[in-house]
Amino acid sequence: MRLFIDHHRVKLTWQTDWLCSQARLASIRKQHTAGRAGSTPREVDDLRGDDDRDMGKTGYFTHRDCWKHDMGGGHPECPQRLDAIEDRLLLTGVGDAMERGEVPLATLAQITRAHSVAHLEYLESLSQRLVADGPAGGPAHAMLDPDTYLMRDTLLAARRAAGAAIAATDAVIGGQLENAFCAVRPPGHHAGREQAMGFCFLNNVAIAARHALEVHGLDRVAVVDFDVHHGNGTENILAGDPRVLMVGIFQHPFFPYSDIDHPADNMLNLPVPAYTKGMDVRELIEMMWMPRLDAFRPQMIFVSAGFDAHRDDDLGQLNMNENDFAWITARIRDVAKHHAHGRIVSMLEGGYNLDALARSVELHLRELADL
Ligand SMILES: [Zn+2]
Repeated sequence: MRLFIDHHRVKLTWQTDWLCSQARLASIRKQHTAGRAGSTPREVDDLRGDDDRDMGKTGYFTHRDCWKHDMGGGHPECPQRLDAIEDRLLLTGVGDAMERGEVPLATLAQITRAHSVAHLEYLESLSQRLVADGPAGGPAHAMLDPDTYLMRDTLLAARRAAGAAIAATDAVIGGQLENAFCAVRPPGHHAGREQAMGFCFLNNVAIAARHALEVHGLDRVAVVDFDVHHGNGTENILAGDPRVLMVGIFQHPFFPYSDIDHPADNMLNLPVPAYTKGMDVRELIEMMWMPRLDAFRPQMIFVSAGFDAHRDDDLGQLNMNENDFAWITARIRDVAKHHAHGRIVSMLEGGYNLDALARSVELHLRELADL
């Protein structure tokens, strides 16, 4: 499997990458310092936020159908990921502070704001064939790429995951919640407009972002992606949409080996080499993401919350820990409070070391809910 093999190859080249990264960091620091010295102050209106208003509740959206997608055979994107999160929230009491929301199935109209009708019809036809042929001893899955198997219940789980994103978006924009986290799977950020790949079938974040723009009439939304893998599917769907600013940081070179040299104007990619430390990630985010996000003044922020950049996670080689994820969450929340009435919808993406995933989600939620 490609994702499992990747890290061996990366380990051979990391020393070169590390030297490059130090040079790159030094260059970015220099540019940032020069930029600060020469920049004009932002408009006062940009700085006037909603920090003083009473902040509301944090929602938690999940559904048992998300457990039914099981690719088996020790696959890291497994239902036990959600068990680990649930157990941790129960153990720590964090779950008690969350408002649990109902999760519908995403509809055709909602999904096709981000995907082609042909993509959805293709997934549906594969599902129907698996169900129809099952009793006669047919295959249990359809392999969409070496890591990504469509099982009989996959589309049900994927529509439920996208439905969680929609419901969370409705509740946050409607004012019933300040922000929300969706503990759902399969993840979504590698799924492009026409393609399932990298454990992903439907792009939950892109579906929700388009829902906020086209159903609720927002003018500007930001997408923040801190998964260890580049959110190439989200970029594929949202590149060139001036209503969206997407900022991401990810290990590179690494799966999905995207061509990131010439991104669209509304995409800010921060590729970092294997073994980059959490403090360096924080510095890059502070210098590169924050000015762009502040200048864009998003009315809502969607988060592709992947926790596979954790140093204990075998599917990536970045040296982050749960405190780094908490720090990023706090900075996202600062922007949301400043420009977006606190509105954040965060979607689970990667995170495959069960213990590290559970601890990271706990701290992510503590930041979202001010616990
Ligand atoms: Zn990932």
